[in-house]
Amino acid sequence: MAELRELLERLSNEFGPSGRERAVRAAIRAEVEPLVDRLEVDALGNLITFKAGDGPEPRLKVMLAAHMDEVGFMITQVGKGGQLSFKAIGGIDARLLLAKRVLIGDDRVPGVIGAPVPHLQNHEQARRVLDIDDLTIDIGAENDKDAKAKVKVGDYGVFATRFTSLSDDPAWPTARGKAFDDRAGCVALVTLLAERYPVDVYGVFTVQEEVGLRGARVAAYRVEPDAAISLEGTICDDLPRPQGEDTTPVTRLGDGPAVTLMDRSLVSHPGLLRLLQETAAAEGIRIQYKAPGLGGTDSGAIHLTRAGVPATVVAVPSRYIHGPDAIINLNDLANTVKLVGAALRRIEPAHVGREK
Ligand SMILES: [Zn+2]
Repeated sequence: MAELRELLERLSNEFGPSGRERAVRAAIRAEVEPLVDRLEVDALGNLITFKAGDGPEPRLKVMLAAHMDEVGFMITQVGKGGQLSFKAIGGIDARLLLAKRVLIGDDRVPGVIGAPVPHLQNHEQARRVLDIDDLTIDIGAENDKDAKAKVKVGDYGVFATRFTSLSDDPAWPTARGKAFDDRAGCVALVTLLAERYPVDVYGVFTVQEEVGLRGARVAAYRVEPDAAISLEGTICDDLPRPQGEDTTPVTRLGDGPAVTLMDRSLVSHPGLLRLLQETAAAEGIRIQYKAPGLGGTDSGAIHLTRAGVPATVVAVPSRYIHGPDAIINLNDLANTVKLVGAALRRIEPAHVGREK
């Protein structure tokens, strides 16, 4: 657990909005290079690793995917006063942005998203939700010339959040940080690559998931897998909830790995669902099902490549996902590794509808 926490801390703190995954890829590459048989970085920036199985041939080729990118910002304009206009990269709720600290560009220039002060607002202004186009990033520059010496149009930004452990209680170990979607999945995949399995494993760290599952699409074409599992951080809305509301949350913190039945991008392959259910039962791992119909993942792109790929998703529930500070339970992460590792030891051609 200490190792998972430490790796999550390092990867969560890395800079990696969609299209600028270089820093997080370098950190992951250093971790996995000693663990795998070979690796390559493709034209879009996906890190594709290969680890041969030790089972009898012919062996299934299983692709595990985790996306390196996170939601973030791109600078679109530098104003006369040195204020920076920006656009969101990926799904960010503008209501979360006011007064948040950010880091901009390759030099990680620190800034704050400016917010109106209460003294100057009337009742109507105070109630209005500001749109992202009304907001600017302030890096403390004197004017546009000063700002342009540090930041240029097209620079990327991320939330300036540092990882924090919230609880070391083994029964309820929690942590707070940014980009758990999908650095939690990246941690799970790095950890899984430490072992060898009967099947051939392609561990793929993808780019540009948050802007349309783009890296996974080309990586799956190259790998041509027999089956694919995406490792994700997913919506967890068990808190806060309105009093007395009688609905089922999408996932609950601490209830184990969340298995996708159906989201907006994928209907999970029935054979792979059966594999995960059999594995969970045999290993005594508690799993939960993500409420159907929400979100999309790399598996949505992977399952439609070439002639089709049986695919599913296993995810770590993450409160306040796509915001500056998410919260996860590290037991859910540890059990995701356990579940998927055990599934790789159990998977048979019958699970993916292939004759031996
Ligand atoms: Zn994700």
